[in-house]
Amino acid sequence: MFDAKAYSAASSTSPLASSTIPRREPTERDVQIEILYCGICHSDLHYVRDEWHSVMPAVYPCVPGHEIVGRVTRVGAEVTRFKAGDLAGVGCLVDSDHSCPSCQEGLEQFCQDMTMTYGSPDKQLGGVTYGGYSESIVVDERFVLRVPANLNLAGVAPLLCAGITTYSPMRHWKVGKGQKVGVVGLGGLGHMGVKFAHALGARVVVFTTSPGKKEDALRLGADEVVISRNPEEMLKHVGTFDFILDTVAAHHDINAYIHLLKRDGNITLVGAPEKALEVSAFSLIFGRRSLSGSPIGGLAETQEMLDFCGAHNITADVEVIPIQRVNEAYERLLKADVKYRFSIDMSSLKSE
Ligand SMILES: [Zn+2]
Ligand SMILES: [Zn+2]
Repeated sequence: MFDAKAYSAASSTSPLASSTIPRREPTERDVQIEILYCGICHSDLHYVRDEWHSVMPAVYPCVPGHEIVGRVTRVGAEVTRFKAGDLAGVGCLVDSDHSCPSCQEGLEQFCQDMTMTYGSPDKQLGGVTYGGYSESIVVDERFVLRVPANLNLAGVAPLLCAGITTYSPMRHWKVGKGQKVGVVGLGGLGHMGVKFAHALGARVVVFTTSPGKKEDALRLGADEVVISRNPEEMLKHVGTFDFILDTVAAHHDINAYIHLLKRDGNITLVGAPEKALEVSAFSLIFGRRSLSGSPIGGLAETQEMLDFCGAHNITADVEVIPIQRVNEAYERLLKADVKYRFSIDMSSLKSE
């Protein structure tokens, strides 16, 4: 075991503050990574404040962060895919059972026995796993991703959660050339959805409630922007979409979007409103439309996404902050006051 600097919260009402956490010495299959950037995901805030108590009760002290990019500093004797000095990424998962049907298909995100990057029982050290708001992390090489060298690393970090969360359903539903794709909401997830749909060759329409976001949506790759509060604008698109990615985490009328799908079209939820959404059965039945949800992605697909980003020069739009401003960033996150993701420069932790 060795000590690593980190930012942790002592309770659901405490701010994140400088602390020290234990990390395991790399075992034979482990990769030790010096963390360079860690993105701030809304899940971090939910976890730190124990807002998801019923599904994932927080254990304190807690260290969030699952959008990790860094450089390999040490590897175990049996590690073959990484060596010291390599760039490396870690997303939401750091282990699984490797044997269930989902794992065998490379869909570790559905493993019933997966270990999340933070807040899961730590099989080696006991207690719970600690995430990326830290100077280093030690991870089984099977859960470490290769990072293309041509990309801005601060903007790569959010790809590990926001990126794969939007890329995976588009691949599953085979988004591609000649298709019309909608993205509902233009935040951390939505802005990645626009970039991917555009790069996959689709015609992209962004739905937003804020007219002020129009210019930015077009800059990010949208072909058209619809102000969703305007029924006339919405009506023009009825029955025309192959696929819609719904990234909105607040309560909203999903039927307004189901109507916009073509026959056999799909709308996938990646935002998670707290209250149940009402769904009109008729809007699904007529047109054989489908509604689904999707969580992150497996390791193989996450690697595919990073390689795709390398080839298409895609990163998240980030505001880089020092770790000392993380509590302020959380408050701004609640007001959606960020374009479009915070990325923590972890070198700022050295001065603590
Ligand atoms: Zn996340
Ligand atoms: Zn499994």
